Formats: sequence, structure tokens, C-alpha cells
Amino acid sequence: MDVLVINADLGPLHRVSLRHAVRMLVRRVAEIHEAEPDRLIGVYPLPRVVRLVRYVVTRWRYSKGPAWSRPGVITRDGGVCGYCGGHATTVDHILPRSGGGKNSWLNTIAACGGCNQRKGDRTPAEAGMRLRFEPTAPSWAALVAR
Ligand SMILES: [Zn+2]
Repeated sequence: MDVLVINADLGPLHRVSLRHAVRMLVRRVAEIHEAEPDRLIGVYPLPRVVRLVRYVVTRWRYSKGPAWSRPGVITRDGGVCGYCGGHATTVDHILPRSGGGKNSWLNTIAACGGCNQRKGDRTPAEAGMRLRFEPTAPSWAALVAR
């Protein structure tokens, strides 16, 4: 399990392993910002997000949100198929890759295997399928919250 490290001003920085996060707590360079309720690791609540005690200047701060990933798309969409509302296990490219569609947050949506197969290498309009919600570029918090 990964732990998100956020800056002293709450800007997200990067993810570290749980062990690394606990070491940061032990060294008092970070404090727990969000933890799993009812779960302990040693003397600490199990951290999900740790906050740096001192502000760290970073070049990339705020410049971009989380990078696109297939698991990220499914998490963003709550595991719900963007076409039928069923259980999503795949990621569909709204504009298919064969048509120049990119791996981007706004061009991908969680989809169940059936819908993904049915849509194939077509746009939703070509396939006669309608998106139930518009894809968005998620914040870090949206990907971490679940
Ligand atoms: Zn579906």
C-alpha cells in the first residue's frame, strides 16, 4: 500500500511505501494527515496521507495532477461502467486509439468488458452508445480518497 506525501501547504508531492512513510513519522519530518480508522502500525494509526512538517519547494508543484493510468481511470469512475453503469474492469478509449485517441484522463472512461467489446474501435456515436458521465481529470485527492 502506498502513502501519499503532501507538502506543508497541503500540495500533493508523491507517493512512498508504507515503510518509508512510517520512517518519516519516526524522524518527525512528517505528520499523519489522513489515517485508516481503527488500524495501527506500531504506535501510529495506519497512514494514508502524511504531511511534511516543513514546506518543501518543488518545481512541479501544482503544475499537473496525477499521471494517467488505467487503474486510475477505474478508481476515478468508482469502478462503474461509463456506458451501462455495470461493474467496470476495463478502460475504454472514447476516441479509439486507432482513430488517434490518446491515453488521457479526458479520453478514457471505465467500462465493463461487454461494453468495451461492443464499442470496439468506434466512437460512442458510431457505436450508438451514450456516456453516462463525462470523464474528468481527477485531483490527487480523488484518487487517494478510496
Ligand atoms: Zn458496461
